[in-house]
Amino acid sequence: MIQLNEIHAQQKKFFRTGRTLDIDFRLKALKDLKRVLHENEISIYKALRRDLSKPVQESFLGEYMGMLHELDTAIANVKQWNRKRRVRSPLMIFPSKASVVPEPYGQVLIIAPWNYPIDLCMSPLIGAIAAGNTVMLKPSEFTPHTSALIRDLLGEVFYDEYVCVCEGGVETARELLQLRFDYIFFTGSVSVGREVMKMAAANLTPVTLELGGKCPVIITENYNIEKAAKSIAWGKFFNAGQSCVAPDYVMVHDNDFKAFCDAFKSHTEQFISNSRFDYTRIINRNHFTRLIDYLKQGDIIYGGDYSADNLQLSPTLIVPHNTELPVMQDEIFGPVLPVITYKNSEDVISFINSREKPLVVYIFSSVRKEQEQYIRHTSSGNVCINDSMLNYVNKNLPFGGVGNSGMGKYHGEASFNTFSNLKGVHYKLNPDLPFRYPPYKGQYKTLRLFKRLLNRNI
Ligand code: NAD
Repeated sequence: MIQLNEIHAQQKKFFRTGRTLDIDFRLKALKDLKRVLHENEISIYKALRRDLSKPVQESFLGEYMGMLHELDTAIANVKQWNRKRRVRSPLMIFPSKASVVPEPYGQVLIIAPWNYPIDLCMSPLIGAIAAGNTVMLKPSEFTPHTSALIRDLLGEVFYDEYVCVCEGGVETARELLQLRFDYIFFTGSVSVGREVMKMAAANLTPVTLELGGKCPVIITENYNIEKAAKSIAWGKFFNAGQSCVAPDYVMVHDNDFKAFCDAFKSHTEQFISNSRFDYTRIINRNHFTRLIDYLKQGDIIYGGDYSADNLQLSPTLIVPHNTELPVMQDEIFGPVLPVITYKNSEDVISFINSREKPLVVYIFSSVRKEQEQYIRHTSSGNVCINDSMLNYVNKNLPFGGVGNSGMGKYHGEASFNTFSNLKGVHYKLNPDLPFRYPPYKGQYKTLRLFKRLLNRNI
């Protein structure tokens, strides 16, 4: 049984040795991580199959590929990201120069959810290592095979005093949160995110909260309904809809309602024909029951079949009875897709803006001006145009929520910055100009003159 407070104390001691400040040490750690993940690719798929019945294609696309991309990006760029970043100094403080110097926060705590149990542990871990921190990582208790594998793999390449996997449930998470970390990175639900932030506040520990919410999809009249329906069906049923970035509900123009439902049915049927076996299951009975309840909150247009024994629910399209019901208020996080209609873009914007800020807004439109209108007039962590989910994969795009969907961004350089204190450094140069020093007599005029010169130079 690991004693969390002891590991925490060892990590503090290790961080103070300054070894993680060495960029070669970090590079080696990232390369060791890559090697062990690469050598165990098949074990990763097996663990995901046991925990979630994830098809290997979804494990590869949704977990393995993205994680390796994150690792390769960090390995290729960490030296560059860690450089002193020169910034200009205003004439007002002439003569001087300035830079931003990234420094590791120190001890980082990462708490992860179950829905992409590999990627959501590894992606933040990569950023934390690249930035030079030590890490205590708590995976989800709902994916025990994957969590045990993560523990074993990280244990092969890292000492606990540097990176330690702390398995366990809520109690373990709470015990960890009692300890004083320099940064906390949490991915999970909004309600737990609130608790994490409360506990972090006790030590004034900065947090990133990667939370959930309802991601709306807007299909505009000018866009090809077939293409939109295909992309949405794929995004919604990947991982059985258990993705924070899954399209949550669709808003389609009145005139296109029937065409959308028909296209959606036909594409979904093609996806699932003869592939019963290749469909991720719902994580547990609580979530399964919650999802089955949603089926009563609307007219089922397609799907609605389920197997309680296998915890599987077929891809389902419903028209909700009204937009105040839980299916239109809570994050669905499963393969149920409500569709509602609208008359004009103002209705769409005001509907979205009347709700909590989503993690992603999906816009299907072929008109640039219309895309811009939705981008500018709605608020969300991210926007994805004419596709679903793939915005998550681009490591050059900072990813994260806003408002209820979270705070802070990560992926690629954004991860490095998140796990670094970007320290501003001012260098005083010579000569030391006299007019800021007392006695002030007569200096006001000189300062005004200086300001006039400055205004010309800004
Ligand atoms: P969860 O909030 O229940 O659990 C997340 C983690 O927090 C787990 O490790 C769990 O053990 C721990 N935890 C649970 N209760 C806790 C408590 N009271 N105090 C401290 N820690 C606690 O979330 P989940 O069910 O594992 O994951 C699903 C949620 O995560 C969804 O809302 C989804 O949208 C969100 N999510 C967000 C992102 C993102 O990038 N924004 C990605 C994946 C999932």
